[in-house]
Amino acid sequence: MGNDIIDSIKSLNKNAIIKILQYSDEKQQQLFSIAREMRNNGKFGKKVELRSVIELSNICSQKCNYCSISKDKDSFYTLEKESVIERISQLADIGRKTFLLQSGENNNKKFIENVAYCCNKSIEKYPDLRIILCMGNLSYAQYKLLRESGASRYILKFETSNSEHHKFCRPTDSIENRLNHIKMLIDLGFKVGSGNIVGLPEQTFENLYEDLVLINKIDLTMVSATRFISNPQSVFRIYENGDLNLTLNYLAILRILKPDALIPSTTSLASRGVNGQLNGLLAGCNTVTIHDGTPDEFQQKYSIYSPKRFYPNEQYCRDIVTQCNLQPVPYLI
Ligand code: SF4
Repeated sequence: MGNDIIDSIKSLNKNAIIKILQYSDEKQQQLFSIAREMRNNGKFGKKVELRSVIELSNICSQKCNYCSISKDKDSFYTLEKESVIERISQLADIGRKTFLLQSGENNNKKFIENVAYCCNKSIEKYPDLRIILCMGNLSYAQYKLLRESGASRYILKFETSNSEHHKFCRPTDSIENRLNHIKMLIDLGFKVGSGNIVGLPEQTFENLYEDLVLINKIDLTMVSATRFISNPQSVFRIYENGDLNLTLNYLAILRILKPDALIPSTTSLASRGVNGQLNGLLAGCNTVTIHDGTPDEFQQKYSIYSPKRFYPNEQYCRDIVTQCNLQPVPYLI
């Protein structure tokens, strides 16, 4: 059965993949075990990248229906560049090497210049830092500036690949536009991350399969699948959370499809407890984000999933990695 699963996934066999997505119990455990083996025998073996996230600003020009970040203009914030550089230094001094600098989509000239300045200064001081940006759609010139400032990776999730479904979830953008931006980033030499959200309202198994086909087509270094979380302040608050097992199965399929990719186990996997990310690692993931970069007073204001989301600290991240018999490392690439 193991080889059948691998063959079906590698050949993108639609019917078989839709069945695999629905695996439970023993079959699901077998799927996870194959995914773990693919990861452990892949380029990075049993190493897991531990990165810190700094949420630079919650100002966003998009209006995704699953997010509430741009709802309350009174709570907008942007971190001062000095405070970002100081936070990176503090964490780099205790051994952190990979930083995810995340923000809403904001192409304000000064803001982008400040982010480039932070990347430049931090890399000047710590040449082996890895800076990952996740800042939405910007202009080619802005991506270029950021790339030249030393940021080496960029995450731009397409979220859902079906054109109509994309409009339903992200009415202020389009899949065509998103894919153009992913292409620009690849052309500029960024190592690019992308992926989808599993369990979005009105999403079908066909949609999930199409997302997989798209992921397989693009030259991605990092791939991801997060679970839809019903954010109580968003337009989609009336819908249930995405199914946890479906998301874990999707992650395992991604791992089998892309044995050498960086795949994050995210906080969206937490469910009735704090062990969701451990399950992600058991399904083949190999990166975990520590939420210790954003100053406490701003964390609640970065409300992509929900203001009440779980913020894993370093000890928690190290514990789940070692519990899975994996090795935490400061960077993979
Ligand atoms: S999900 Fe991202 S792009 Fe969409 S509204 Fe929220 S912060 Fe902006």
